[in-house]
Amino acid sequence: LVLSAASSGGLVAYADSKQENAAEPPEKKKLVVLGTGWAGTSLLKNIDTSLYDVKVISPRNYFAFTPLLPSVTCGTVEARSIVEPIRKIVKRKTDPVKFLEAECFKIDSVGKKIHCRSDVGTSLNGTGEFEVDYDYLVIAVGATVNTFNTPGVAENCHFLKEIEDALRIRRSVIECFERASLPCLDEEEKRKHLHFVIVGGGPTGVEFAAELHDFVTEDIAELYPHLSELVSISVIQSAEHILTMFDKRITTFAEEKFLRDGIEVRTGYRVVKVSDKDVTMKGHSMDEVSVPYGMIVWSTGIASRPVIRDFMNEIGQGKRRVLETNEWLRVPQCDTVYSIGDCATISQRKIMEDLVEIFKMADKDNSGTLTLDEIQDVIEDIYVRYPQLELYMKSKHMIDIHDLIKDAKDDFELSIEDLKNALAEVDSQVKSLPATAQVAAQQGEYLAQCLNKMEECHEHPEGPLRITKSGRHFFRPFRYKHFGQFAPLGGEQAAAELPGDWVSFGHSTQWLWYSVYASKQVSWRTRYLVLSDWTRRFIFGRDSSG
Ligand code: FAD
Ligand code: MG
Ligand code: MG
Ligand code: MG
Ligand code: MG
Repeated sequence: LVLSAASSGGLVAYADSKQENAAEPPEKKKLVVLGTGWAGTSLLKNIDTSLYDVKVISPRNYFAFTPLLPSVTCGTVEARSIVEPIRKIVKRKTDPVKFLEAECFKIDSVGKKIHCRSDVGTSLNGTGEFEVDYDYLVIAVGATVNTFNTPGVAENCHFLKEIEDALRIRRSVIECFERASLPCLDEEEKRKHLHFVIVGGGPTGVEFAAELHDFVTEDIAELYPHLSELVSISVIQSAEHILTMFDKRITTFAEEKFLRDGIEVRTGYRVVKVSDKDVTMKGHSMDEVSVPYGMIVWSTGIASRPVIRDFMNEIGQGKRRVLETNEWLRVPQCDTVYSIGDCATISQRKIMEDLVEIFKMADKDNSGTLTLDEIQDVIEDIYVRYPQLELYMKSKHMIDIHDLIKDAKDDFELSIEDLKNALAEVDSQVKSLPATAQVAAQQGEYLAQCLNKMEECHEHPEGPLRITKSGRHFFRPFRYKHFGQFAPLGGEQAAAELPGDWVSFGHSTQWLWYSVYASKQVSWRTRYLVLSDWTRRFIFGRDSSG
């Protein structure tokens, strides 16, 4: 006889191990995960399936390694090499994970169910629509491109978000060359067809421009020798520099390299319209200019998906731009809904809002003032709950609390007013996390760990302030760990910004990039494929059949 306690409310079920089919299995909570991108996949890898009945719903039945998407646009890496079937990823879990290829189009957090639609299902019951119940929902649907409602963008621009986009771009680049090779065009027209425009000077746009430049100089020049002189590549950026999220030194290095390579960087221009032939832009206090193009890629940032917008309206987040979660990644308006990755942002609690409570908690003897000892006792907890304090101290080169509270001597006593003054600027350090794979993957892993421990921490794991030393179960709020970022710049050169203010550029950094991206692959299979693609490219060049 097997005795097992069901997770829901201490129900006890008895099951005869010899007749397992006849017995009621202990009921597991239903966990539904939306999305198979960086966030969803990382959660699935780390979730304990013996605790939850896990269902994954996504229109894509695979995980795609997005950092190598720009390499797919020019055939440096094959599309097949950077995708891994989700069913393969979850195959080795203790208990089976169910995958449904469908798109969620409505989240009903009151009825605790989601409404889904499947393309394949249409022929089955007419609509292809179905509902799925959940006990816990994890929204990890990523984001969509942001066109800023610029006219003509949706109709005429390529995006670079999905595998299909990268393949379309690849075909389109080669088509431009074939079109320009036709005898009926004069040189002026050939130049137009060979003008490649990238809107957006962020990491994706810059990497694509570099990749395209390599393709043109290394491969196309040999195959279309008469055309390579006529090719031009432009990056249009609304800010004053490209790669603004990187260190200034990297921005400068990238801009100088692009200048040497002949990639035109038009900073301070905003695209206002795209027709099927021209892109129209406007600089500060300048008239609009229109430039003909052969192919245009739009890469200017992300926006919430419609299903998330509707959900936000429903739960009273309609005025926000992005779905908000607390630091435990839970949607504050819904007890059982979590959101991770590009579709959500964390709203970090302000230290000023909790100052009275922090003070009371620290003032153990209720004297109305704090001694240094009293502060020192709680400072670790405050760091955990309000990471901005640690960031603030670092940014001001302060080592400990003595530096923060000027003239602190051992017999020093602090009133709430003093504390307020000392912490006044701390909240200005709160920054939202970037929409990157690194953040999404860490959030997926963190949330899986929380869910795995959910039963242990039955009472609400979070509160405005929880003390770690109390011995109670406590989930630390999510804390992002930045491992640095790369910007491949073409010509076997890359720039990297690594933790500790360490910046490097050049050929050796490109090799670092190769090794990091090889090691980050989800499986040995994709690692092997990516490595062999790189080798193939070194030996034979890129494939230009389209
Ligand atoms: P995604 O990975 O986009 O996954 C979303 C998932 O949800 C997908 O499986 C999608 O099919 C599914 N989905 C969509 N709608 C629905 C729906 N209605 N119902 C159910 N499922 C749905 N980040 C880095 O850190 N380093 C890089 O070098 C880097 N390079 C990048 C290069 C490119 C070209 C791009 C586009 C992005 C790059 N990023 C990089 C960013 C990174 O890819 C994203 O931050 C990351 O993918 C976010 O993960 P996510 O799980 O939130 O969303
Ligand atoms: Mg995801
Ligand atoms: Mg992804
Ligand atoms: Mg996010
Ligand atoms: Mg006191």
